Amino acid sequence: MDADVAIVGGGYTGLWTALALRERDASLRIALLEAEICGWGPSGRNGGFVHGFWTQLASLRELVGDGAALELARAGSRILPGIRAFVEQRGEDVWLTERGYLKVSAAPFQDAALERAEAAARALGVLGDRVVPLSEAEVAKRVRSPRFRRALFFPECATVQPARLARALRRAALGEGIALHERTRVTRIRAGSPTLLETSAGSLRAAEVVVATNAWMTGWKPVRSRLTNFGSYAVLTEPVPHLLEQIGWTGGEAIADWRMFVHYFRTTPDGRVLMGSGSGPIGHGGSVDARFTADGPSAGRAELGLRKLLPGLAAARVTHAWGGPIDVSADHQPFFATVPGTRIHYGAGYSGHGVGPAWIGGQVLASLVTGADDEWTSLPLVTRRVPGLPPEPLRRVGGGAVRAAILACEEREEDGLPASQLARLVARAPALLGMQIGTR
Ligand SMILES: Cc1cc2nc3c(=O)[nH]c(=O)nc-3n(C[C@H](O)[C@H](O)[C@H](O)COP(=O)(O)OP(=O)(O)OC[C@H]3O[C@@H](n4cnc5c(N)ncnc54)[C@H](O)[C@@H]3O)c2cc1C
Repeated sequence: MDADVAIVGGGYTGLWTALALRERDASLRIALLEAEICGWGPSGRNGGFVHGFWTQLASLRELVGDGAALELARAGSRILPGIRAFVEQRGEDVWLTERGYLKVSAAPFQDAALERAEAAARALGVLGDRVVPLSEAEVAKRVRSPRFRRALFFPECATVQPARLARALRRAALGEGIALHERTRVTRIRAGSPTLLETSAGSLRAAEVVVATNAWMTGWKPVRSRLTNFGSYAVLTEPVPHLLEQIGWTGGEAIADWRMFVHYFRTTPDGRVLMGSGSGPIGHGGSVDARFTADGPSAGRAELGLRKLLPGLAAARVTHAWGGPIDVSADHQPFFATVPGTRIHYGAGYSGHGVGPAWIGGQVLASLVTGADDEWTSLPLVTRRVPGLPPEPLRRVGGGAVRAAILACEEREEDGLPASQLARLVARAPALLGMQIGTR
């Protein structure tokens, strides 16, 4: 087959890109190739937190400076209006619940991260506006837990039912005349004019190609020195609206703590609670295997988080548990680019926070495809230099040791106990070596 643009991957990134391209040029022949079905990857099974970059101001300032950090955070403010307009115009119900995001310190050792974020917001003049400090008493008015201390509240955050959003995007893509080829795995991309894509079901020639395969991209040569993958797991309880009322968590806020291996939790419209933990195993050499979907201990850590942080929900039975791969960049921010000398564009590195940013990813990739020099291609997501990661097997072995040490520290400190000296030393190794990944 022939197409003007071929998009590989039918998650949020691929689907938003297809729709952004259609908006810009009604005549483009766009084909989207998905190995399974659209939304089969993390886009259909994530925690459903939708936010931009206000929560990450402190690290963004260090990465790209104050001006670019603010520019990116302001661009992120366009995500929710973009998603809201999409669902309203198309009459879709993705359970969009716009009630903000509470980042709460759940142990004394987490206060420092909160204070850093607060100081960054103050320095950039957005404290009290995009980032609202809440005292322990104010937190208790939104949700009661003996673990919760102070919090920062980020008004620009929503939750969605992730698979509903993926299905809505798929319907929209079909409605807009995008040629959707599901169960069509791309096995090889040969750059050229046009570029040739070999697939499990035939081949396709396209002038422009977008690779939007997220964690499956990790072993691909153009990105493999800057991208690795991890597992991320979540558990879901039975409906417990009466218990939510008892702990006062009826406002629909999304919540997370300030650990590096963050616990994040939210409610659903039928009164269930989802608790996720980003503490799954590290991949090796870019492969995505069973460790990303069937790792019992990682799902166990998500449930342990639920029991520890929300003891008022002790009677809530866990009915579902699942995992998926996340694509982690060396500086924990997504990056978008064109492979030099080709018309192959890509975006990856959401580092477990892609639900909202994939909307921006769609605009950026549409600009790269159309050759536009605009507000999207000037974002630091495109212009910054992304640091490299150590090569394999050091990445997996060293990364695994650091991950285990940080987990050990965070679990001890969460219970008010000191971590062992060895764990603390190994946990600090990346920072001592001047690396940004794996630092806390
Ligand atoms: C358990 C879990 C919870 C999460 N919770 C949140 C959250 O609450 N908030 C948040 O912001 N982020 C969260 N994330 C991350 C978020 O889901 C991702 O960042 C986001 O969905 C990435 O979208 P994507 O389209 O880039 O990738 P994906 O959704 O992974 O889509 C990539 C697609 O490419 C396809 N593919 C792969 N290889 C090929 C090939 N060779 N040929 C054709 N197709 C191919 C895959 O089948 C897949 O459908 C979570 C992730 C997990 C796993």
